[in-house]
Amino acid sequence: MHAPIQDSHGRTASYMRISVTDRCNLRCTYCAGEGMEFIPHPDILRYEEILDLISLAEGFGVEKVRFTGGEPFVRKGFADFMMKAAQRFPEVDMCVTTNGTLIGDHVERLAKAGVKRMNISLDTMDRAKFEKITGRDEYNTVRENIDRCLDAGMTVKVNSVAMKGVNDNELPGFVEFASERNLDFRFIEFMPVGTETGWKDDLVWTADEILNEASELTELRPSVNGSKHGHGPARMFDIVNGKGRIGLISPYTNHFCATCNRLRITSDGLLRTCLFSDKVYNLRPALRNSKLGVEFVERIIRAANRNKPIGHELLKKMPAGQGVCQTRMASIGG
Ligand code: SAM
Repeated sequence: MHAPIQDSHGRTASYMRISVTDRCNLRCTYCAGEGMEFIPHPDILRYEEILDLISLAEGFGVEKVRFTGGEPFVRKGFADFMMKAAQRFPEVDMCVTTNGTLIGDHVERLAKAGVKRMNISLDTMDRAKFEKITGRDEYNTVRENIDRCLDAGMTVKVNSVAMKGVNDNELPGFVEFASERNLDFRFIEFMPVGTETGWKDDLVWTADEILNEASELTELRPSVNGSKHGHGPARMFDIVNGKGRIGLISPYTNHFCATCNRLRITSDGLLRTCLFSDKVYNLRPALRNSKLGVEFVERIIRAANRNKPIGHELLKKMPAGQGVCQTRMASIGG
């Protein structure tokens, strides 16, 4: 076991988000939209390289790994890879964020292999609106797959990007959905990441507004454990007369940078220490060079993390109406 990785603000890295592809089968307006250029295949980290990275990260104290994208299940062999990773690193909390469109055939075997949790994105309860937001008619598939995950005994978190003029008229439906199921329904404030999302300050449906409106619809009680698993950034509330919980993630109005424990790895092996900063550190050449070895990768991560910024200070300097960084969310992985 190596020493934990700390930054100059005293934050320890214990959570790694790994994007396995920048490709996605949806075209969500707030994320990327149509017409993307993709990273060339040879530059994408191979599965073996990702396993090397996880092994290294476990050694310096990373306890949780989340696979993301793009859409992870678009990448060939991803479900098998994830099962292999879960079996090889049983001590690491291994999870995935997905749009839920392609998981149907994999849910049961993933659950059997020890994948206990699934985060699924769903921004509306309306099929036509789903198609408008994502560019694809996959609403029914996602709904079915959420229930399939629950039936397989998985812990399910549904993530919904909260946007005024898009889904702020759907709160009763969201609350009803969460009341009827044993899951966490989490609202994420629309973030100004990337330059093509049409982000504007007044499009952010804030966490406080959601909480106030939801409290008028149903009785909510702060959850004793906050997040069921670990100390995530979500403020969680039990629905007193329902099965599920409502969560609020407020990166825009109430940042959680002081407790940020994340390292983000893009699919081409760039380390990003802060979601809101385009400063990256390329791990791929070192990961691919057997002479340098993973020790050298660790040295890069340690040096990079020393300069990890407080992202919210970058947000404050953001020009009005623009993205805080150039990189699309689809490339970073959220
Ligand atoms: N394809 C997967 C999915 O749909 O969950 C994983 C990648 S997606 C980039 C990861 C998360 O980022 C999703 O929950 C998505 O809703 C969220 N996201 C994307 N763009 C966002 C934005 N501008 N503001 C807030 N959340 C965003």
